Amino acid sequence: MIDNKTGTSAPLSIETLLTHGGRNPDDQFGFVNTPVYRGSTVLFKTLADLDAQRQHFLYGRAGNPTTEGVEEIISALEGAYRTQLLPSGLAAITVALLSCVEAGDDVLISDSAYEPGRSFGDGFLTKMGVSVRYYEPRIGAGLAALMQPNTRAVLAESPGSLTFEVQDIPALAKVAHAGGAKLIVDNSWASPLYHQPLALGADLVVHAGTKMFVGHSDAFAGTISTTEAAWEAVSRVRRLLGFFTSGDDAYLVARGLRTLALRMEAHKNRTLEIARWLESQPEVQQVLHPGLESHPDHALFKRDFSGSGSLFSVLLAPAPRASVAAFVDQMRLFTMGYSWGGYESLCLPVKLGANRTAKPWTKDGNLFRLHIGFEGIDDLKADLVDAMARYTLAR
Ligand SMILES: *Cc1c(COP(=O)(O)O)cnc(C)c1O
Repeated sequence: MIDNKTGTSAPLSIETLLTHGGRNPDDQFGFVNTPVYRGSTVLFKTLADLDAQRQHFLYGRAGNPTTEGVEEIISALEGAYRTQLLPSGLAAITVALLSCVEAGDDVLISDSAYEPGRSFGDGFLTKMGVSVRYYEPRIGAGLAALMQPNTRAVLAESPGSLTFEVQDIPALAKVAHAGGAKLIVDNSWASPLYHQPLALGADLVVHAGTKMFVGHSDAFAGTISTTEAAWEAVSRVRRLLGFFTSGDDAYLVARGLRTLALRMEAHKNRTLEIARWLESQPEVQQVLHPGLESHPDHALFKRDFSGSGSLFSVLLAPAPRASVAAFVDQMRLFTMGYSWGGYESLCLPVKLGANRTAKPWTKDGNLFRLHIGFEGIDDLKADLVDAMARYTLAR
């Protein structure tokens, strides 16, 4: 916890929360970091203690000081009542959804949402008797037309992490609440540094901690941060399902968070530079980055975000699959893989098809999703120039 040593009551900046939050050296023999707590059994001294459940953690599955430290930092960043750490970003999405519904209820999911979250809806929620429908990500207040009396959860992801539509969170929250539903927002892209959905009316915020929080492509984690009203159900579902995040993984999240502000600032500037530069390249039809003035949701982005992330997509002129292979197969620095958020740049050809149902993707051309890491910026541009030349040649 943070001691207010200065005696002032000014709210602490996000940078200070990231460096001082969630740790107490006095509890750790003066060592700076809360160490990795590994433990299942937690001991009680007397029957009276057992009967009164007198331990902060009753059992290792309930958490430990390492996991709790991470939860404290994320709650402070998101302005949340509390945060639950989970073993993956997908687990955060599934627990968040399950905390809102029971058999007979209905869920609305943005068409732009992370694909495995959709699969959970279609392959799991529907089997429990929960109907799952999809909405056009830019629908805003128009969501009202889709609400049913049994709609209990609306899932948003802003911007969508393949196609980068910005969603009108205040409008969605208003509609959801009017219908008795909760709004869940996947905030992985912007991180809490640049977007705080709870302040805009959301009830639950989920993160793929695997990405920006961990920051080094070497661990999995997810978080759910909630309002006070939404907390109890999240805590209960997590407990009933037995999800647990190890102290080892939580330690890597905490370590990543200490440099999140610096990394986000660097990712933001470098990504905008590459995105802007790409706009002027001959093969490029469109750059999908909400921080660019050319993006259709730029005004909404400016209203609700204070910065942008490391991830965007670029649409290249139509060309056969061989051109896509020529683009990615011989890149020297960009590598191909799912995920993002690490120090290394990634390039992923995107196929949008069956995972668009509310509004099919109709743009011609080949879509590539880029994550801009920390290599030399001119080296990254040269890699892209060469890739685009091969793309043209292979057409
Ligand atoms: C990767 C990702 C997730 C899932 O996180 P995992 O830790 O890989 O399960 C959720 N949402 C978004 C936007 C993601 O990019």
